[in-house]
Amino acid sequence: MSINIAIDGPAGAGKSTIARAVAAELGFIYVDTGALYRTVALHAKRQGAETPEQIAACLNTADISLCFAEGTQHVLLCGEDVSGLIRTPEISMAASVVSALPAVRQYLFDLQLDMAKQNNVIMDGRDIGTVVLPHADLKIFLTASPQERARRRYLELSEKPDCPSMEQILEDIIKRDEADRNRVVSPLRQAEDAVLVDTTKMDQQQVIRHLLELCRERLGL
Ligand code: C5P
Repeated sequence: MSINIAIDGPAGAGKSTIARAVAAELGFIYVDTGALYRTVALHAKRQGAETPEQIAACLNTADISLCFAEGTQHVLLCGEDVSGLIRTPEISMAASVVSALPAVRQYLFDLQLDMAKQNNVIMDGRDIGTVVLPHADLKIFLTASPQERARRRYLELSEKPDCPSMEQILEDIIKRDEADRNRVVSPLRQAEDAVLVDTTKMDQQQVIRHLLELCRERLGL
């Protein structure tokens, strides 16, 4: 039986950086499910699909798969590695829109479940502990204040030429939080049995150590 660790939380809480580091330490595969929703958004954009019906229909031609090279996840869209192309503010917002559609969530559900059945995984997202892996061995809800999440995102993006302003990033984060929390299907929420970790006043190394400690205490890893 594989071991499954679920990490959920709002945009910019540091889930991916933390999950990647903890997975490397434990020898687990890190699955970033946000990348799957981003890839659907990219595919819809390329197909010119805008309405829910058009987006649902374009799933028929979306051949999405994950592969791993030296512990790093790559997402393939019809054989093309789109891992870099999906990391733009525009695709972030578009991913939030397509992720509210039941057809999209259903489409990605099996892919996520297969990964978790076949591998020891740390999977991050919004509904992993509540919907995708309700029986996960350990569930963590990682969060931080919107201001702190915007500050971290800004630092991350600041080296890119078209980096948005801090105010713009904060506005996007608040908008995405609202959309993710209030959608009807699989909204972002903390599972009842998830451990809440508020990282507002913690640095990355402290969060990683804290999560590794939880894995040791709860799973004997
Ligand atoms: O995690 P990331 O910011 O890359 O996710 C992009 C968007 O995909 C989120 O804002 C959310 O709307 C959606 N998402 C989701 N369920 C997941 C992962 C991501 O709805 N498990």
